Amino acid sequence: MKSIHLLGATGSIGEQTLDVLAKHPHEFHLKSLSYGKNTAKAIPYIEKFKPELIAVQEEKEAVKLKNKLTYRPEIVVGAPGLVTIAKSGNSSDVLVNAVMGSVGLEPTLEALKHGKDIAIANKETLVTAGHLVTELQKEKNVKLIPVDSEHSAIYQCLHGDPKEVDKLILTASGGSFRDKTRAELKGVTVQEALNHPNWSMGAKITIDSATMMNKGLEVIEAHWLFDMPYEDIDVILHKESIVHSMVEYIDGSVLAHLGTPDMRVPIQYALTQPNRLAISGAQRLKLWEVGALHFEKMDYERFKALRLAIEAGKQGGSHPTVLNAANEQAVAMFLADQIHFLDIDDFVERALHDHKGVTSPSLEEIMKIDRATRSNVESYIR
Ligand code: NDP
Ligand code: MG
Repeated sequence: MKSIHLLGATGSIGEQTLDVLAKHPHEFHLKSLSYGKNTAKAIPYIEKFKPELIAVQEEKEAVKLKNKLTYRPEIVVGAPGLVTIAKSGNSSDVLVNAVMGSVGLEPTLEALKHGKDIAIANKETLVTAGHLVTELQKEKNVKLIPVDSEHSAIYQCLHGDPKEVDKLILTASGGSFRDKTRAELKGVTVQEALNHPNWSMGAKITIDSATMMNKGLEVIEAHWLFDMPYEDIDVILHKESIVHSMVEYIDGSVLAHLGTPDMRVPIQYALTQPNRLAISGAQRLKLWEVGALHFEKMDYERFKALRLAIEAGKQGGSHPTVLNAANEQAVAMFLADQIHFLDIDDFVERALHDHKGVTSPSLEEIMKIDRATRSNVESYIR
């Protein structure tokens, strides 16, 4: 029986993780969970799994929760609450990090310090501070297991001598607007952007998929997870989202991972690897129903956010921190109807242009740069 701690339980990945745990009650035990503000959604899960420790974003949610529960778990609050969860339990436990945004960084570092393996969905953490996370991971000799479908695919296709790996090839569905030109994107609404053709996900990552920033964040994530230079990470368009990603070897062999677009598969694999648990027939891939698979060369001018992300990754230092914070802020402003869709890329570009880089930023510097970038981007509106 594996003990699990889950950050971001009320989110898209969080709920699918709970679904995996519920299907395998003899394999997994949920010791703690966190959520943000959605107490109404959290309560049925909490009553079902009865975790002994719960972290919520704000005090008022903690009070609401305490009054409604039929048992008395420990309840902790805010960013320190996430860290309390990361530190709790034993080093043989697994932390599933499925919060949205760079708030996931500190609990990741704490869990690594305590020797816990991490199933990581929260990509903003690796983007904002990949060097800190991977240094600590190596020092503590713990596993950082990818949940993101592309990275899970690569993780499963990597074999043998690392020197024989020529390239990682990430596939991109293209998001809600893949068939539109940049000119056609001018007046698109929040509702249109939230309408992803293949995946049902949280709001922020759905917008990131529409701008293609999501693929940019994933390139940076792949750079850190698999220790690959940016020059050897390619992105290709694949609108069906069936091939989740590929690894090309020096002899020209390409290994691909295929599956239905269902995040429960990579979530479950992250919790059981290198072993597997059976999944129902309904979730299995039926290639004859898919028929044809299509691939296209990526257009880095059309998808400007992807280009910005790769450039920031190559520049390194604090540039990815700025990229991530500017993007988080700009997407929040777009979702609040304060800016246009195309402003997102432009604001990120401006934030990167305004930034004087720091070579190897500490945690304190990263947090300071993250805050300053968000407030700069907020001021671009005025
Ligand atoms: P959601 O927005 O659906 O969920 C985010 C979760 O984090 C919710 O539980 C939310 O709580 C909580 N949360 C948000 N902000 C805070 C905060 N400041 N403090 C504490 N908790 C907070 O996101 P997703 O599940 O879509 O994505 C989560 C992460 O996984 C992201 O990094 C995303 O890029 C990555 N990812 C997601 C995929 C997907 O298919 N959804 C695929 C691959 C990666 P509440 O709602 O209660 O306020
Ligand atoms: Mg992905």
